[in-house]
Amino acid sequence: MKKIIFLAVIATVLAAPVFAQSGSIFPKGEVSTVNNHTGTVWLTELNKADSLIDCNIATATFAPGAKLDWHIHPAGQILIITDGTGYYQEKGKAIQVVHKGDVIKCVPGVTHWHGAAPNSALTYIAVSTNGAKNKTQWLQRVTDAEYSKASN
Ligand code: MN
Repeated sequence: MKKIIFLAVIATVLAAPVFAQSGSIFPKGEVSTVNNHTGTVWLTELNKADSLIDCNIATATFAPGAKLDWHIHPAGQILIITDGTGYYQEKGKAIQVVHKGDVIKCVPGVTHWHGAAPNSALTYIAVSTNGAKNKTQWLQRVTDAEYSKASN
């Protein structure tokens, strides 16, 4: 009996890192075919804004090195990082390295981009209120020179 308990403990300890690295609790979703990013991005819609609750919620996973173009959310967005390591940058400011567990406020009207670090995937839940007036304005690509300024 002691041997069985011992084996169960060992199995749990060995399995823990596997679960810890398994990422989001939500499905990874479909590969994005929209031309507003570089690299592979998977998207899953979790809630669509409607007349009762005006809030869009989606989860996005970025392959290492994948990133969105510069953009603006007219009514803002909150990013809840659920897995991996990535970058968040507002125009004119330094790149912030973001990790699982971080919550990032993308303030209304501020030009910014976000994506994965070069050596890590990134998954987050994006919460966008005021769906009707919060249509993202897509701007220029993030250049290699801009992306490479990060130090993680
Ligand atoms: Mn954004």
